[in-house]
Amino acid sequence: MRLEGDETQAPSLTWRVWLLAPLVFVSLVGVVVPLNESHKAPPPPKEYVGKASEPRVPYDDELDRLLLSRPEIRGEELRVIQNLHRRCRDRRNAAGKIPRSLRARVDRFLEKYFHLRAQENGKALPADIGAALDAADEHEGNADRRRDHPIPPVVRKPKRFHLLAERPYAVCVEMGGDIDVEQVAAQKMERLQALARAVGKELGSDDPVYPDRPLTIVFLREARAHRRYLQGSTGLVARSLVSHAEPEKRRVVLHMGAKDSALFHEVTHLLLAAHRRAPGAHHGLPLWFEEGFAEWMSSGRPITKNGVEHWEFGLFLAPRALDLERRGSEDRLLSLKELLDATIATRDGWLETDSHKLSTAYAQGWALVHFLKHYEADADGRVVFGVDGRLGTGRYMDGWRRWLTFQVGGKNGRPYSGRAAFQEALRLDDEGLERAANAYRKWSLWLGRKAKLQHVANGRVIRGNRRGRSDDDLLPR
Ligand SMILES: [Zn+2]
Repeated sequence: MRLEGDETQAPSLTWRVWLLAPLVFVSLVGVVVPLNESHKAPPPPKEYVGKASEPRVPYDDELDRLLLSRPEIRGEELRVIQNLHRRCRDRRNAAGKIPRSLRARVDRFLEKYFHLRAQENGKALPADIGAALDAADEHEGNADRRRDHPIPPVVRKPKRFHLLAERPYAVCVEMGGDIDVEQVAAQKMERLQALARAVGKELGSDDPVYPDRPLTIVFLREARAHRRYLQGSTGLVARSLVSHAEPEKRRVVLHMGAKDSALFHEVTHLLLAAHRRAPGAHHGLPLWFEEGFAEWMSSGRPITKNGVEHWEFGLFLAPRALDLERRGSEDRLLSLKELLDATIATRDGWLETDSHKLSTAYAQGWALVHFLKHYEADADGRVVFGVDGRLGTGRYMDGWRRWLTFQVGGKNGRPYSGRAAFQEALRLDDEGLERAANAYRKWSLWLGRKAKLQHVANGRVIRGNRRGRSDDDLLPR
């Protein structure tokens, strides 16, 4: 029942797809206009010994991107950029770090263009959305599935948006009616900033996220406008979808009434894409991590501690756990190997043929994140809790961190995310993987049991019996 209630506005898992178009990341290596190379060879870069606190920032790459995307920059402005670019290159250490003072200078410069870009995007938005809505009309009747779930026409096309820009986001709220758009934008922005901090912290990455290119989050007033937009821009017809992400446009479009969980899920996809320095093809991304991590972050909600409210993410998702329990009782959970081998391309196949399998994969992806962060059991197979009665850091935590390193940086500059990457990150040989798979299956079923027993407080799983030993926390055989 709780699952139903929880899902009235959020899209069902099946529909929380982000778009199928492959991510296109323009590789700038080798394309970049050489800014400061004259006929004589450039002097060797001076070695800058960075401090640990200084972020590893490919800022000069961002300056290059800025110049590529804005050929109109000329004169004094161009000279400033060239100068900054040169200083970044010269003062970068072997780990890619630049001094904090230089970073601040580049940062101020990029911020100016970030706001300019946000304004431009905001201005272009009504026409952009309108074109997609028109395209939906043109496609009317084209797709067979449309006949089953026709989307009613949009009453009004969005005409004006209120824009609030704050790196890395440009939040655009459709104006009209009696909505206090400024308040909505400010509220969403605060939550999104909390999400960006949480994702960056989890990934261990303090790299800037598109310092001059906003992640545009568009809130539409009409639910059907979003659905028609989706149809017009992608050809997808989705009855219950209220949000989706378009990483290639760095954009999320959703209905204003969509729950924060849907917003956080979709924007996590954008943030992940932004943090990846070795992105690879979108369809090759690991399904369990892409969707499991988005689900993990989707749980964010305000928690009050000592009278102060702050946003917490990575909370227990009872509906997903109950899903695991149900599928487990039918013996229809995916094996760990099957899960690790599934990619976004696999997901798209399941989207057509087996939506139950798909939603199971989402739940299992979420459970795998939970397992990697928290799994710990004693010799009797009893889950180990901390003194506060909550789960602590599990035995696979180091492996999880190494996995995230692969996700963000790849390996040798290339994406590295399949089963081999998983085994390497967790230091598991084939036998070890078998053992981990067994433990993971038990953990998933146990999470389902805890959801049923409602052993959850403040969004965290708690020990079944705080005073003594409880069989509730004995992992299933
Ligand atoms: Zn997703």
